[in-house]
Amino acid sequence: MKPVLKSNKLHNVCYDIRGPVLEEARRLEEEGHRVLKLNIGNPAPFGLMAPEEIIQDVIYQLPDGSGYSDSKGLFSGRKAVMQYYQKRGIEEVQIDDIYLGNGVSELIVMSMQALLNNGDEVLIPAPDYPLWTASVCLSGGKAVHYLCDEQSEWYPDIEDMRSKITDRTRAMVIINPNNPTGAVYPKEVLEAMLQVAREHKLIVFSDEIYDKILYDDAEHVCTASLADDLVFITFNGLSKTYRIAGYRAGWMVVSGNKFAAKDYLEGITMLASMRLCANVPGQLAIQTALGGYQSINELIAPTGRLYRQRELAHRMLCDIPGISCVKPKGAMYMFPRLDPKVYPIKNDQQLVLDLLIQEKILVVQGTGFNWPNPDHLRLVFLPREEDLHTALTKMAEFFERLRK
Ligand code: PLP
Repeated sequence: MKPVLKSNKLHNVCYDIRGPVLEEARRLEEEGHRVLKLNIGNPAPFGLMAPEEIIQDVIYQLPDGSGYSDSKGLFSGRKAVMQYYQKRGIEEVQIDDIYLGNGVSELIVMSMQALLNNGDEVLIPAPDYPLWTASVCLSGGKAVHYLCDEQSEWYPDIEDMRSKITDRTRAMVIINPNNPTGAVYPKEVLEAMLQVAREHKLIVFSDEIYDKILYDDAEHVCTASLADDLVFITFNGLSKTYRIAGYRAGWMVVSGNKFAAKDYLEGITMLASMRLCANVPGQLAIQTALGGYQSINELIAPTGRLYRQRELAHRMLCDIPGISCVKPKGAMYMFPRLDPKVYPIKNDQQLVLDLLIQEKILVVQGTGFNWPNPDHLRLVFLPREEDLHTALTKMAEFFERLRK
């Protein structure tokens, strides 16, 4: 039989967070090794569990959740999302502007498929959460990366962004708080980005899935609250703040100049109907999550687990000669820089593989986040302090050997 080949549409699509290095980690585990996984932002396996109240409410409602829901989602979940954004400064949002999905992931893919013609360009940050780039490519578009500046707290470089606009640019993606850098953008930075969008009539996609995971004095500004003359699609969900990534509950909110986006929204609504509806048990969790006690605040307070883990991981990373790291103000990741003079790395995937094989530590290479140079890594600071301490001690030994 002829070999069965994958579609050409997948040729430029990549998602290294769950890529080939993970396969090797699985193999090592099958051989009986314990691999310390600092590669995926999945809170529950690290004992960061969803609040009991959410789980109990879902169990209670489960018998009513066996049928399909409306394609845009259950009334209760959409109403809770609507109220959340009204309080966050998007006052005019209506229940009809809200689409529930199987996590933010499904909605990212859907929003790109409904928008792009072949060759249309979308501005995406570098580094990025790679699903954005992958979804643009899968939809026939071209992902054009604007640089974020490590010297300036990883804020987007507005001049670089401007220089990348062409007559095919349709949209701008903002990821704030950012994965993988942990940057949280001040209002002025967001306003400068929106000015670029305004000048070039770009639709703004704002991925705000970490909007409540903030440290120190960081404040999150909801991008869409800053203007009503542009078309905004805001993304968020329960996977991170409420630690229930497995329920696959996310949403997308349309706001601003909705009139201009009428045709596009018809496209999105059609795609939402084609997949019938999002997982209903996941939708059942939304109202309780958004309305109830916000237990995330305990985890990010200076005495909380996430805060302490961030402190430890950052200190230990920066103690390794030739490694520096902008301290994240949000989310659950660090994106340290390996000084090329100290570590002249050519292939960062190989580096990550070597770290895995030699020390049984799994991280993701920076180029997996569409960062142009092989001089960064991403690690997740979700493991408990003991495990982070072990992992970073081993990493320090690994990099010491590289320096010799
Ligand atoms: N957006 C960002 C920035 C993420 O980091 C992630 C997951 O890591 C997602 C979206 C996808 O989340 P979900 O579990 O809602 O699909």
